[in-house]
Amino acid sequence: MEITEVTVELTGYQQDKVRAYCSVVIDDAIVIREVKILAMENGFLVAMPNRRSAEPCVLCSARNDFNARFCCQCGQPMVGTENPPRRIYRDIVHPISAKARQQLEAVVLAAYEKELAADRERNAVADGRELRATR
Ligand SMILES: [Zn+2]
Repeated sequence: MEITEVTVELTGYQQDKVRAYCSVVIDDAIVIREVKILAMENGFLVAMPNRRSAEPCVLCSARNDFNARFCCQCGQPMVGTENPPRRIYRDIVHPISAKARQQLEAVVLAAYEKELAADRERNAVADGRELRATR
């Protein structure tokens, strides 16, 4: 597997938990969008694209949309409608091997650091212009 391109879109405020959204191109053939960089207590986490889903229906085990009020299979009210049901996140795309995960994380985090540095550079230039303009 070769990661041939990573594009990083920084979120507006680098104090938020979600620091960036990335697109990752593999072998110049497949693109994965919505890869997120999350700030954790002990560093950054590369989160693969995922979707929310509710717990399965307690009566028939059918999986329902996370905001469903009634089971799509048996029609019974979803337990926990009054108390929101526990939400489960499922990765849509994810690396299978540890090696692929490490490779992906290293490349994405390097692209994030590079984009952060470029953003600081742009802001410094913008601040400089602003200072000169007000003098
Ligand atoms: Zn059901």
